Amino acid sequence: MTRLAGKTALITGAARGIGRTFAEAYIREGARVAIADINLEAAQKTASEIGAEAVHVDVSDQASIDACVAEAVSKLGGIDILINNAAIFSAAPIAEIARADYDRVFGINVAGTLFMMQAVAKSMVARGQGGKIINMASQAGRRGEALVAVYCASKAAVISLTQSAGLDLIKHGINVNAIAPGVVDGEHWDGVDAFFAKYENLKPGEKKQQVGAAVPYGRMGTADDLSGMAIFLATPEADYIVAQCFNVDGGNWMS
Ligand code: NAD
Repeated sequence: MTRLAGKTALITGAARGIGRTFAEAYIREGARVAIADINLEAAQKTASEIGAEAVHVDVSDQASIDACVAEAVSKLGGIDILINNAAIFSAAPIAEIARADYDRVFGINVAGTLFMMQAVAKSMVARGQGGKIINMASQAGRRGEALVAVYCASKAAVISLTQSAGLDLIKHGINVNAIAPGVVDGEHWDGVDAFFAKYENLKPGEKKQQVGAAVPYGRMGTADDLSGMAIFLATPEADYIVAQCFNVDGGNWMS
C-alpha cells in the first residue's frame, strides 16, 4: 500500500500515542514523516524505531513553532501534510478551574493548532503545491461534560478553527479537516483516569472501564481504528472534502 508515496508529513505530539500510530501508518503508505514533540528525547527514540525524522516543538510557543516548521521543511524538502495532534487533557469542576490551567490548555490545544496551521500553510502556499491539514478534535468538542469544561471547550474551538481555516485555505489547494475520536486507549488514559479518580472517587482503571463499556461498538477505540481516516484525508480522493470534522468513535456520538 503506497497511498502516500512521495508525500511528506509533519505530525505534532507524535512521540507516543495516536500521533505515533499515525506516523507508522503514514510511513507504511510510503510517506516520509517528521515527528514533532515537546519531548525531543522521546521523539528521537520513536523516530529511530519507526524510520522518521525528529523535531522539537512546543506548540504553545510561536518561536518554537517557527523553528519546527523551518527544520521540518529543511529535513523533508517541503511539507505536504500536517497533522495537528499535540494536545493536553485537564479536568476539574467549574468551581476549581484555575486560570493558569485554562491558559495552558488553550495555549496548546487551540493556539497550538491555529499557529501550526498558519506556519505550515505559509510554507505550503509558498511552495504552490497545496496540501492537507488534519486537526485532532474529539467527541469532547461536540458536547460539554461536567468535569471537563476546559478540554471540551478547547476541542470545540479546534472544530471551529477547522471550519474557518478550511474555508479560507481551500483557495490555495489546502484542505483542512478534522477527526473527532471518542475514547482511545493509550498512555493518555493514565492521566485521564487519574483526574476522574480524584473527582469521582474512582479506583485506577475504573473510569476507563466505564467509558469503554458505554461505547456502542463494544470497546474503547485504538489508535489503529483512526489511521484509515487519517490516511484517507491526506489522499487526492479527499480533495473535495473541505472544512469537515469526522467522528471516528464506535458510535459514541450517537449514543
Ligand atoms: P498523548 O497524551 O498520548 O500524546 C500527546 C503527545 O503530545 C505527547 O507525546 C506529548 O509529549 C505531546 N505534547 C504535549 N504538549 C505538547 C506541546 N506543547 N507541544 C508539542 N507536543 C506536545 O495523547 P493521545 O491520546 O495520543 O491523543 C492525541 C490527540 O488525540 C490529542 O489531540 C487528543 O486530544 C486527541 N484525542 C484523544 C483521545 C483519547 O481518548 N486518547 C480522544 C479524543 C481525542
